[in-house]
Amino acid sequence: MKPADLAPDESAAWHALTGDETCAALATSLDGLGQDEATRRLDRFGHNELPPAARTHPVLRFLAQFNNALIYFLLSAAVAAIALGHIIDGAVIVVVVLINAVVGFIQEGKAERALDAIRDMIAPHAVVVRGGERHTLDTRLIVPGDIVVVEAGDKVPADIRLLRARGLSADEAILTGESVPAEKTERSVPPDAALGDRAPILHSGTLITTGQGTGVAIATGPRTEIGRISGMIGAVQSLTTPLLGQINAFGTRFTWFAIATAALLFAFATLARDYAPLDALMVVVALAVGVVPEGLPAVITITLALGVRRMAARNAVVRRLPAVETLGATSVICSDKTGTLTRNEMTVRHLVTSASVTAVSGSGYAPEGELADPQGAAPVPDVDRDMLVHAGLLCNDARLVQSGDQWAVLGDPMEGALVAAAAKTGLHPETQRALWNRLDEIPFDAQHRFMATLHDDPQGGRRIFVKGAPERVLAMCADQAAGGTTRPLDPGYWQECIDACASGGERVLGFASMAVGTDTERLDFAMVEGGLTFLGLAGFIDPPRDEAIAAVAECRSAGIAIKMITGDHQGTAAAIARQLAIADDPRVMEGAALDGMPDEELRRVVENISVFARATPEHKLRIVDALQANGHIVAMTGDGVNDAPAVKQADVGVAMGRKGTEAAKEAAQMVLLDDNFASIVAAVHEGRTVYDNIRKVIGWTLPSNGGEVLCVILAIILGLTLPMTAVQILWINMILTVTLGLVLAFEPAEPDVMRRPPRPRDAPILSRFLLWRIGFVSFLFMLGAFGIFEYAQRRGYAIEGARTMVVNTLVVMEIFYLFNVRYLHRTSFSLIGAMGTPAVLGAITVVVAAQLLFTYAPFMHDLFDSAPVAFVDGLVILLVGVATMTILEIEKILTRRLNL
Ligand code: ADP
Ligand code: MG
Repeated sequence: MKPADLAPDESAAWHALTGDETCAALATSLDGLGQDEATRRLDRFGHNELPPAARTHPVLRFLAQFNNALIYFLLSAAVAAIALGHIIDGAVIVVVVLINAVVGFIQEGKAERALDAIRDMIAPHAVVVRGGERHTLDTRLIVPGDIVVVEAGDKVPADIRLLRARGLSADEAILTGESVPAEKTERSVPPDAALGDRAPILHSGTLITTGQGTGVAIATGPRTEIGRISGMIGAVQSLTTPLLGQINAFGTRFTWFAIATAALLFAFATLARDYAPLDALMVVVALAVGVVPEGLPAVITITLALGVRRMAARNAVVRRLPAVETLGATSVICSDKTGTLTRNEMTVRHLVTSASVTAVSGSGYAPEGELADPQGAAPVPDVDRDMLVHAGLLCNDARLVQSGDQWAVLGDPMEGALVAAAAKTGLHPETQRALWNRLDEIPFDAQHRFMATLHDDPQGGRRIFVKGAPERVLAMCADQAAGGTTRPLDPGYWQECIDACASGGERVLGFASMAVGTDTERLDFAMVEGGLTFLGLAGFIDPPRDEAIAAVAECRSAGIAIKMITGDHQGTAAAIARQLAIADDPRVMEGAALDGMPDEELRRVVENISVFARATPEHKLRIVDALQANGHIVAMTGDGVNDAPAVKQADVGVAMGRKGTEAAKEAAQMVLLDDNFASIVAAVHEGRTVYDNIRKVIGWTLPSNGGEVLCVILAIILGLTLPMTAVQILWINMILTVTLGLVLAFEPAEPDVMRRPPRPRDAPILSRFLLWRIGFVSFLFMLGAFGIFEYAQRRGYAIEGARTMVVNTLVVMEIFYLFNVRYLHRTSFSLIGAMGTPAVLGAITVVVAAQLLFTYAPFMHDLFDSAPVAFVDGLVILLVGVATMTILEIEKILTRRLNL
């Protein structure tokens, strides 16, 4: 069929066609499309993606920068000034407003681009059959006619007509609003079936909640149901967080307050102090400008966006911006064990049957290694062990691939280890798998903790193989293998073997099998729940990650508790917890113990338990709830579809980027690209740094505003000449926020970030300490400004010269204060502190250059009424800066003593 005939028919009732008819209509088969045909169709139908959500037009975004009360106020002041003949003052105000808007616009754009780049790092993938082989593809490459395989936890990548479904159901709430998952089968339904009743259709964007299925893509991109309904789904990440919202709201209220105060002051100045109305207006404008930290929200946005970027560089991709703030306050991290705390590089170490214990040597997945008995001698022949090895190889979806002399697993690492073990016994994996043709399977699920497969037995008949958590498999068995025959089950013996392996940190798996007749076509739970024959155990080593050991130590010094929540055996989990040192004496609890426990009791015990073994996803949810009820900020990892509720409930839900399902990623606030515990801790580290930097930005920005305002108010109340004009105040604010203020967003972490306890859940950003600091420094700034002004007047300088000195003094004091604020609690009098960072030094260079221009360039004299300052007076100004710094360092010591 020519591709032209494949034009997707919008009205096609695919759900009424049979699977074969669908395949025929789309010129495809169960083997999938050829790669060439797929490429042709991609050209024709385009990428499988929805058009990006409409963004605000840049012009509108630019105009939005003007949409705030302060700007309106400034612009009216400019109009008034121009109308009254102060053309230059009016023009300067307009220019400053424009520059502010441009800077805000650029910064916002940068922050948005940083977030966009990060979204692409976690682009979804899907399993697609092409040319008879399974491939994992970027979902954007799927075309109509592709055969797509889905399973629980996947997000459906396109509209799909099912060809095969097993226990399949999908959450279609985004399309139908129906929160109960819809059952999905391959059976056709009548053409007029409603959207929610189209059982054989999987809709793009819905989530598979249970089962597995294979189907053919019938529509992609904008032609899918969701694409037609909404036209957009990849909503644009918003640039706000609760903290930023608070600051914005505060800023707006503050602006109105400032304008009101300014009006009062205007009345006072004209009526009580005989100011000319124009002068009074300019004073009042100066006050309003001085008091409002107009650059602050933009700088904080940048700080957050930088944090997101730094986290991404450390393999933690933030999906929702507020997580950046919450991460810094995390007090408990609940983590999976396998693959997160451990390497997930499994190797079979022991094979145990009723007759023998066999040690297996070798490392990694290379099929090189020896079998030996515990004394190191050649292993005794054991038919049960041979059957166990077969079970491990056949009840298994993993493949080993070699590139160079490196062997790697495609699939589950534990299953990969079983393939390697089989190869070490001399079996050829692919030959055996062809010989024992697989007819059906029950896939592994963390809920039921086993996997079962049905095979043709080359010796005749059929055979079921089961592998899973040993207690689980033992409970399914009626007897045990004994040298080719069977014997009653001996649970005591097996428990001893399990404990022996687990206490060494080995992960233990049990195996069973059962012969069945050739009339058995399909597997279901009832068939495997009893009557199996237990074959034996395999013990795997999976060493802790080195980075995880270091990260655990870092957490403990940072006052962050760690809870290991694992589906694994309690002995194994405890041994690994000890190797990681997640607590001094890690206490273990079995998930089952939680079941009967009331919430209040759980809240009490949860603090002291470090390891939850054989825990299910429901247990995770209860543990998060209990910890949150105790006031903790909880980070929780998850990978499976059932983990989504717990991940969503946690303050910081963390999904695994590699082994995690789409369901877990959708629920998560953060995705780990490398599934590594250390990356969570790195993100916490960055989160704390971001929060510190926001505090530094605020703590540094507000005193300059405070100092200016105190000067203006004092001058008016005392009837003195203003030490600065309105446009000079505008100049200070503008030059400082876009240079030095921004530098604080780039500050590296303080050395002790991970050596102090997490901040309390509802600690205000303006802590007592910060409020005191802002008030005190404002006062110092006022003293400095008035002091210099007084000095200049005593020496008989003209008002222009005196004011220029005041402006320079304030800027110099801000520079010195910057060094002080870079370390909130430690002294800044150190070599590293004094050297600053390239960003700090660069910004200071810019500020100094700008100040020299301000002071000495004739055109600046015209614009800002500034005047040259003599060299000695420059030195006096520097001295004021040094004095400020010294006073503030002494203050740091005192406040630390007084524990403020
Ligand atoms: P973890 O928290 O260590 O990742 P899981 O929930 O993945 O634990 O697994 C729980 C238990 O289920 C394991 O200890 C093991 O006994 C069993 N199990 C894990 N993977 C498989 C599998 N692919 N097939 C059969 N059983 C498995
Ligand atoms: Mg697991």
